[in-house]
Amino acid sequence: MRRFFLDKCVEIGEEVMLDAEESRHMLTVLRMSAGDRLILINGSGCEMTAEILREEAGCAVLEVLSAAVSDAEPANNVVLFQGLPKAGKLDLIIQKCVELGISAIRPVSMKRCVVKPEKNDGKLARFNRISHEAAKQCLRSTVPEVYAPVKLAECDFSAFDLVLVAFEGEEKLTLKLALEKAKPDLKHNADIALVIGPEGGFDESEVEYLLASNKNAFSVSLGKRILRTETAGLAMLSMLMYELEG
Ligand code: SAH
Repeated sequence: MRRFFLDKCVEIGEEVMLDAEESRHMLTVLRMSAGDRLILINGSGCEMTAEILREEAGCAVLEVLSAAVSDAEPANNVVLFQGLPKAGKLDLIIQKCVELGISAIRPVSMKRCVVKPEKNDGKLARFNRISHEAAKQCLRSTVPEVYAPVKLAECDFSAFDLVLVAFEGEEKLTLKLALEKAKPDLKHNADIALVIGPEGGFDESEVEYLLASNKNAFSVSLGKRILRTETAGLAMLSMLMYELEG
């Protein structure tokens, strides 16, 4: 069944109207009509089956038939802190990280970033649309938020259960070993931060800052080859999900 987003919580048996954009997709692009069934997702991890009742002023009116908890969401909350990459790369990073199960993406301005963060240029809305589309396509029931870029010093890592800094200069600790060590103490639903440097890599002072930011912060190697910044997060997230979610 097709999936559509709704921005509120609804009860079984309730009538609800979809917003204009989702309605247009449903009624005009997909040509769905009264009697057709679909899945509604409201971003809270719950999925509802609904039926189209009628069209009102271009918007679809639906009846909610049943609700269930989604099983497409990972058990842990993983946030990607991504060193701000060159134009265009974030699009790919967002799309793929959403597919791989990220919970949120925070672009971070670092010393060796080639680009400087720009404010209010419409990119943030586009980034969140990419996340929305990717979540829909891969059958997730939450839409990971993409935040406006901030400086590394403005990021608070203190509340995370684990902070994993992918550092190309790390020679001893691999991600696999770090996870083996951390896993027995990790609670179900753990908050985990992944930190990736920009194209120019981390400045040593940034790695020191990150390792001091949380008692469970580790710098880890992702292997013997140097990955591009847009590859590193995807590889790291895939490895993490493999180890933690199976
Ligand atoms: N310009 C740097 C490489 C930067 S790669 C250099 O030439 O050394 C961009 C980011 O990807 C790094 O900062 C790091 O966070 C991550 N990364 C890439 N390869 C990695 C590896 N083998 N181990 C750990 N992190 C890696």
